[in-house]
Amino acid sequence: MSGGSDFSAALDDLRARALLRTRRIVETACGPEVVVDGRPLLAFCSNDYLGLAADPQLVAAAKQGADIHGVGSGASHLISGHYAAHHRLEERLAAFVGMEAALFFSTGYMANIGAITALVQGMEGTEGTAAVFSDELNHASLIDGIRLSGAEKRIYPHLDLARLSELLAASPASRKLVVTDAVFSMDGDLAPLPELLALCERFDAYLLVDDAHGFGVLGGGDDRGQGSLAHYGIDPARHPRLVYVGTLGKAAGVAGAFVAASEEIITWLLQRARTYIYTTGTPPLLAHALLRSVELIEQGASRRAHLQDLIDRLRQGLRPGLRRWRLVDSTTPIQPLIIGENGEAMRIAQALLDAGLWVPAIRPPTVPAGSARLRITLSAAHTVAQVQTLIDVLLELERQA
Ligand code: PMP
Repeated sequence: MSGGSDFSAALDDLRARALLRTRRIVETACGPEVVVDGRPLLAFCSNDYLGLAADPQLVAAAKQGADIHGVGSGASHLISGHYAAHHRLEERLAAFVGMEAALFFSTGYMANIGAITALVQGMEGTEGTAAVFSDELNHASLIDGIRLSGAEKRIYPHLDLARLSELLAASPASRKLVVTDAVFSMDGDLAPLPELLALCERFDAYLLVDDAHGFGVLGGGDDRGQGSLAHYGIDPARHPRLVYVGTLGKAAGVAGAFVAASEEIITWLLQRARTYIYTTGTPPLLAHALLRSVELIEQGASRRAHLQDLIDRLRQGLRPGLRRWRLVDSTTPIQPLIIGENGEAMRIAQALLDAGLWVPAIRPPTVPAGSARLRITLSAAHTVAQVQTLIDVLLELERQA
């Protein structure tokens, strides 16, 4: 159907408010230098934090995986689509993050929906009720998981543990689940996981940590990149109600996600996580490539050190020069620059494109109204000179704005 359909007025409205979403077509592999719609650009938009997405070692591993297992899995995991590569990957990931077991999902979105909906169940035959407590800036996939779960939803202000404590104390629910991003996807700041865990323990609540942006990037003292739990020195073995979600399409450079937890919780997810049960198994070649990816993450201390250096340089280069725009307080590769108004953020993103730089503008409803921003993401694949170019162009654009 063409013009005048049920949606034309709504689309016109989005267009008028600078909220219409569009895509750009990338003609090369993921990396700092890409060709987009026929033009070479320097990109600061991917979540390929370690620069693994097009790493020849991973490409070779994917090809080898295809030689062994073919391309498609042919069925869902519980029928006949669970391959040796999937299984080995789950064992490897569980051990890597220090959990008893793990389940490999096709995406982080599916992992969060599957885990949350399953975790609030398990009270069949009882009078139990469930409540999920969620940070107001949590990712859309957590929000959708809560909605689908049918549990009572309690949203607490961003990082406000005092309020969360009050909500937990007041809740009569027999199953309580707190869900949080570990690294908030649009702000780059960290959730205080040790304090959250302590609160959950006090109220017998489960804690689901979505470490989409921390897995592979953050690490503990030995810097193996196991993610936010290691960053905080948390020993998962001591927390039986802790559920960890890591995604594999960002720092790990491939696709998919995993939920890691106690053996019992993972066995429960296998019974009840519908986004795992009722979908075709992810191509096993991806699991094969991901086994290599975990090795590269584990040995990736120098990539992480370079990335940290780039983060420090970006912040030190931008902060003193900024007058109207504001750099969010973030120590991670997600470095948002708050512009404020939607149209202005779009105009700056376009000016950057005109200068050959690709930085996405993020607008409501992804972020709160009035906080439209440029979401700069850095990767270990960037060079110091590329980051300096971004700093120079941004400061010049702000001067002209
Ligand atoms: N959680 C967070 C915090 C995310 O940022 C994302 C991806 N944008 C997801 C989950 C979903 O992961 P995936 O892209 O693998 O579906």
